[in-house]
Amino acid sequence: EASLAKDDSANEGKNGPGFKGHSMLAPFTAGWQTTDLHPLVIEKSEGSYVYDTNGKKYLDALAGLWATALGGSESRLVDAAMAQFKKLPFYHSFWNRTTLPSLELAKELLEMFTARKMAKAFFVNSGSEANDTQVKLVWYYNNALGRPDKKKFIARAKSYHGSTLIAASLSGLPALHQKFDLPAPFVLHTDCPHYWRHHLPGETEEEFSTRLANNLEQLILKEGPDTIAAFIAEPVMGAGGVIPPPSTYFEKVQAVVKKYDILFIADEVICAFGRVGTMFGCDKYNIKPDLVSLAKALSSSYLPIGAVLVSPEIAEVIHTQSNKLGAFSHGFTYSGHPVSCAVAIEALKIYKERNIVDQVNKISPRFQEGLKAYSDSPIIGEIRGTGLILGTEFTDNKSPNDPFPPEWGVGAYFGARCQKFGMLVRVAGDNIMMSPPYIISPEEVDTLIRIYGEALKETEKRVQELKSQ
Ligand code: PMP
Repeated sequence: EASLAKDDSANEGKNGPGFKGHSMLAPFTAGWQTTDLHPLVIEKSEGSYVYDTNGKKYLDALAGLWATALGGSESRLVDAAMAQFKKLPFYHSFWNRTTLPSLELAKELLEMFTARKMAKAFFVNSGSEANDTQVKLVWYYNNALGRPDKKKFIARAKSYHGSTLIAASLSGLPALHQKFDLPAPFVLHTDCPHYWRHHLPGETEEEFSTRLANNLEQLILKEGPDTIAAFIAEPVMGAGGVIPPPSTYFEKVQAVVKKYDILFIADEVICAFGRVGTMFGCDKYNIKPDLVSLAKALSSSYLPIGAVLVSPEIAEVIHTQSNKLGAFSHGFTYSGHPVSCAVAIEALKIYKERNIVDQVNKISPRFQEGLKAYSDSPIIGEIRGTGLILGTEFTDNKSPNDPFPPEWGVGAYFGARCQKFGMLVRVAGDNIMMSPPYIISPEEVDTLIRIYGEALKETEKRVQELKSQ
């Protein structure tokens, strides 16, 4: 709680009187925030910007929640939704009934994902549902293969896989477990691959990756390989603080899981569709997954939709097993919602037409280098990122082992300064995360860097004051 922003000044005015103490049980929000503070109420969006109910403009440096890849006013997505709304606003995909947009989107996704061949796409409404579905698919698969004991999952400390019961269990963030009786007992967590924070003195990135892969293997052997069903990983960790993998990490980890016949699930909810400078995170790190989770940029988040991509081997087993049992009894009313699918089809079309990967690679050096130039700040421990995703970690003495006292709220102070100066970032303790829309212009990147710099200067001053008290 100490690390949450208590500075309310940026949200005053029209946002305030009507909404303070509002009626929403707000996600990822502390009770006192809704009673003591004015919420920031966003009313409209335009390109890389959003506006609050006071008309104040903010550069949306997190693209909503790592989500609106095409920014806040892509009319083609709205038109695609409207056209589909008029034709068929809803039909489901149960019992071999379905719609044209869901069929087309499934085909399109399988063609786009080239890190390895995938055979089927299963539609969901969110990243959390995608990862819950992964667990059910893996269990169903191992039951079909007569391996009823091979059911445990290994995820990583600091991972984020969502907030439903199973997705929160997979996540390696204690806040998602506390007071929720989680994680579920079938989930184990292995090391967070954060080199800066966890490497031993003198250890190279490659040696660090080797050690982590060995630790993973030890965990598998300790639990018994016949009990471990799958390993799940974000190519670049997002909500845990933006942590790109250290050199050779995925190569080594994949070798370990393969050795013990453990499935690899790539959680591409943040990384997919260009975010890290390749179409998928798997392309960048040479990951050959058995299952893939997608959401967010799939529709540029204009409507909720996610997907699970399934390998030919798993799809074949599910096919055979469901022939025996009657049906694959899993799905949601909105699996393959035709309007969400129509928007996603249009988003994918835009990614291809505009060579979105090239576009990200063209703009990202300005973003990465511009922000990394602040690395010398005495309050910054590390700035890390790739493509259009970047994290900043505030620590003292440039050391991962010298955090600022949580009650100082250094990250929260920085986030509130950004907001005051007209930019929205994500704050988690003393970690700051940014993932602007792909459409961000060079001038907007410069604005982002300038606001970051101004917020940083004030935060440095604040830390100085706190230190001298
Ligand atoms: N996986 C990852 C990697 C994510 O970043 C998120 C959301 N930030 C999720 C899963 C969960 O997605 P949702 O919030 O749509 O359930």
